[in-house]
Amino acid sequence: MDLSIRNIEYCKGVGAKRADILRKELGVKSALDVLYQFPYKYIDRSRFYYIHEIEDEDTFVQVIGHITEWHTIGIGNAQRLSATFTDGRHSIELVWFKGVKYVKLERNVQYLLFGKPSRFNHQYNFVHPELTPMSKVKPEMTQGLEPHYNTTEGMKRAGINSKAMRTIIIQLIPELRQRGLVDTIGMDVVQRYHLMGLTEALINIHFPKDMPTMQKARERLKFEELFYIQMQILRQMKRREQNHGFCMPIVGKSFHAFYQNGLPFPLTNAQKRVIREIQTDLKSGKQMNRLLQGDVGSGKTIVALLTALLAIDNGYQACIMAPTEILANQHYQTITELLAPLSRVNCQLLTGSTTPKQRLPIHQQLQSGEINILIGTHALIEDNVQFANLGLCIIDEQHRFGVAQRAKLWNKNTQPPHILVMTATPIPRTLAMTVYGDLQVSIIDELPPGRKPVQTLHYSIQRRATINQFIAQQIELGRQVYVVYPLIKENEKLDLQDLTNGYNQLCETFPEYRISMVHGQMRAKDKDEQMQRFANGETQILVATTVIEVGVNVPNASVMIIENAERFGLSQLHQLRGRVGRGAEQSYCILLTRVEMSKDTRKRMDIMVATNDGFRIAEADLQLRGPGDLEGTQQSGLPFELHIASLSTDGQLLEVARQAALEILDADPLLEDMHNRIYKQRLDYLRITAGNWGEIS
Ligand code: ADP
Ligand code: MG
Repeated sequence: MDLSIRNIEYCKGVGAKRADILRKELGVKSALDVLYQFPYKYIDRSRFYYIHEIEDEDTFVQVIGHITEWHTIGIGNAQRLSATFTDGRHSIELVWFKGVKYVKLERNVQYLLFGKPSRFNHQYNFVHPELTPMSKVKPEMTQGLEPHYNTTEGMKRAGINSKAMRTIIIQLIPELRQRGLVDTIGMDVVQRYHLMGLTEALINIHFPKDMPTMQKARERLKFEELFYIQMQILRQMKRREQNHGFCMPIVGKSFHAFYQNGLPFPLTNAQKRVIREIQTDLKSGKQMNRLLQGDVGSGKTIVALLTALLAIDNGYQACIMAPTEILANQHYQTITELLAPLSRVNCQLLTGSTTPKQRLPIHQQLQSGEINILIGTHALIEDNVQFANLGLCIIDEQHRFGVAQRAKLWNKNTQPPHILVMTATPIPRTLAMTVYGDLQVSIIDELPPGRKPVQTLHYSIQRRATINQFIAQQIELGRQVYVVYPLIKENEKLDLQDLTNGYNQLCETFPEYRISMVHGQMRAKDKDEQMQRFANGETQILVATTVIEVGVNVPNASVMIIENAERFGLSQLHQLRGRVGRGAEQSYCILLTRVEMSKDTRKRMDIMVATNDGFRIAEADLQLRGPGDLEGTQQSGLPFELHIASLSTDGQLLEVARQAALEILDADPLLEDMHNRIYKQRLDYLRITAGNWGEIS
């Protein structure tokens, strides 16, 4: 019977109770599912040892021999069993402390002994070794690399340990070998990319005959995993490409007027390129879904504004959504200033602090179409905010918006508006291809001219006096200083205490300077007031939690001091650093940690000191932390789990898998051809079995 529909319950060694556990703990329902539980390590069982060759603790070895005698020592719980095992030339002691009464030993039986030697009284022995009568040894057991499986507590309680998993899987192998499985990937693809066939790969991932064969099997299964994720994402993209989009072919008055007379500076080539890419999308007649990546300070705001003007010239409204009020305010200020010469563009702000009285005219003017650009926070997506003709949504700092919120924006018009997502968190390519794989990507990879790279220094807190001197020196030069403290949810009280202590100390050290303080628990009004005083130059130092992480722009602030830097992730440190280096002056970022540091912290600090390149930092972050923990991805969510492939190490394979998937979908977007049926079936199967897959679409 087909392994994919054979209930796991009816596999040898399983039964109803264990089947239930496997279903609950691993999501394993069928015989095929259990074959997709891959080992996490292998132990070489092709080699047999003689007792005199044992010279190492903690490496598994196997020896063939027999038992010459055994006896128990002690009584009750303290009882142990000691046996003498010989390979014919030398002997060694075997010991059991637990389950003594279940150990059945026989004389005159050849055993295969398998275990880890340990050293006791200058001699090796084996504690709780595995003994299998030679007559019961299956060839797979000694053919080469023995697979070991991850198990959960729940599984162990039900007696399903790694060995039990192996036993369940091993009895499926002969059948697999005989009957084979229909491959999940077409022969043409298998051949083109020199992949191992599915049947062979599944046999060899569990019971490889040697390392190279195992590697080949792994590669094939990784490919398959990445391939189907890409298939899913790209199919979604293709489907959406069928969506009509508002056609915006006109490059009109507002855009021209601003482009020719309103630009406060010449655009960088990267900015120009990105605007061309966006323009092409807008006039294509299809809905745009584009991700704009650009390091902090690379000039995304002006791109957003120009894009909005394109929409306006074509008779549509645009909205710009930011994750915090501070940022929304700032965008509003920047953009209204830039637009001042263009009297005909009406731009308004809508945030949580907008009073009901202020809201009313905004709601009305949105519906009448008088407002051209609406800037705001989440307040924009509330149901009562209705547009006359919304054609473009720009989302700044995307990683704070969930997929569901994006979807809400889509419904603000009869047809989904164009979407431009802007992020300053550079995303490693592999991650972008999976998390945002359904978006087109534009990159601003060039900073405006004249920027001096921020100089980053790492100090221990014991050097506080030096730091304070430096602060004073910079302020005397007319600059302003940020001092940032971490804010971690679980420990808000302590963090706040850190922050206020830091603030008080600074006040004591610098009685002659004025100091602002901002944190998340302040009322929005107070927060804004404090921020504003710093932005206006009334205060010289701003002590803050990470509320200032995104977007805030005070060009005269040239020093960023990060307290407890060890508590920040790499991309967050990079974001914070991006708050300085915005003016003409040399800027500094000072990372403060304790003297004692973990290896990881040391690495993070070294990377920060070594480079200003956001993409390099993102890559390093991915390597250090793994994609699961990456800043932001938890919220936007990797909508699937990777079982065998890794986004940090399998980048190349991912590119190939994406390419392969793309070629198939380019030719047959809906997978309707007969020979693409396998892909469609597999995608359906995955959607049903792999729980959260549905969320991608
Ligand atoms: P981000 O990409 O971080 O949102 P902004 O749009 O806030 O960056 O731009 C950062 C700063 O650089 C702003 O002060 C902006 O006026 C300035 N800027 C943007 N583009 C250019 C350019 N082409 N030449 C000079 N300055 C620029
Ligand atoms: Mg910005």
